[in-house]
Amino acid sequence: ALILGIESSCDETAAALIGSDRAILAHRLAGQEAAHAPFGGVVPEIAARAHSEVLRPLIEGALTDAGVTLADVDAVAATAGPGLIGGVMVGLVTGKALALAASKPFVAVNHLEGHALSPRLTDPDLAFPYLLLLVSGGHCQLLLVEGVNRYTRLATTIDDAAGEAFDKTAKLLGLGYPGGPAVESAAARGDARAIRLPRPLKGSAEPHFSFAGLKSAVARAVEAREHAPDDIAASFQAAVVDCLIDRTARAIRRAAGATALVVAGGVAANQAIRSALQALAAEHGLRFVAPPLWLCTDNAAMIGWAGVERFAAGLTDPLDTPARARWPLDPEAETVRGAGV
Ligand code: ATP
Ligand code: MG
Ligand code: FE
Repeated sequence: ALILGIESSCDETAAALIGSDRAILAHRLAGQEAAHAPFGGVVPEIAARAHSEVLRPLIEGALTDAGVTLADVDAVAATAGPGLIGGVMVGLVTGKALALAASKPFVAVNHLEGHALSPRLTDPDLAFPYLLLLVSGGHCQLLLVEGVNRYTRLATTIDDAAGEAFDKTAKLLGLGYPGGPAVESAAARGDARAIRLPRPLKGSAEPHFSFAGLKSAVARAVEAREHAPDDIAASFQAAVVDCLIDRTARAIRRAAGATALVVAGGVAANQAIRSALQALAAEHGLRFVAPPLWLCTDNAAMIGWAGVERFAAGLTDPLDTPARARWPLDPEAETVRGAGV
């Protein structure tokens, strides 16, 4: 089958054509960094407008790249949430309209499922169930991925997401937006032992993550003006790695039957985090799978691939499917201390 995937939940507009044989026939992406940079973060209204301006030419470009027309597509898949509601609506409504006009089935994709299944697009050997560390701009979770549409959440953050911590640290250090890659480069030049920063919840009996205390400690270190920004970045990144590894190690001990340790989401592009997880997996005799860097941050290939997997499972959706700002992957998961999903 051939699926058109559309993504517009945050600040990347993207369209892709993905085959059920894992062929990536086309994937196009338009970032909005320049539009949001003056504000130090994503401005929802600016994002929604930008999506609506570029999405149609982007889809046409992707169809051209793939050498196909809408008539050749078997289904249209679009992100229906979670994310900034204005942006989500642009991609969702466009996807539904194309499906309606071309008389094709429509697949509403949870953006988090896009991230969660993305490693299977590039690794045909990755089988269910696997233990997934989903680390992105809005989420930090450990999930047991048992199959398409079958997720058990083992842990989530009680305050900030990992990507949010990177972005806030970048802002404090004056490294601009988006912060993750900038903090990673600064960290590579710095000394990770320069400052002792907290490792929230490390060693805790409960399964969750926390990054708010780390962020406050970074803010104090910046204010103190005693340390080079590169050293602060390196010390911060080392603390994040420690927390992620500690929490993931705890989950591995409880996720019997998992065939692999998998990382996905924008923060999975971080090389220090990838290496530490790879070592952890090796320690526990688990395979380690991480998508290529371009597939970690937001894109439409992962939405098209989630569309492939859902379409194959017979999971299509009606054209009145709503856009959702919040949409937990595991509906059974309780809200943790009022924190997000
Ligand atoms: P979500 O997927 O939770 O809805 P999002 O879609 O905004 O959020 P992604 O695009 O998946 O998030 O990831 C973006 C996040 O990844 C940002 O917080 C960014 O700083 C972070 N990030 C990107 N590259 C790196 C890197 N090399 N190191 C650390 N963090 C990174
Ligand atoms: Mg982005
Ligand atoms: Fe994302």
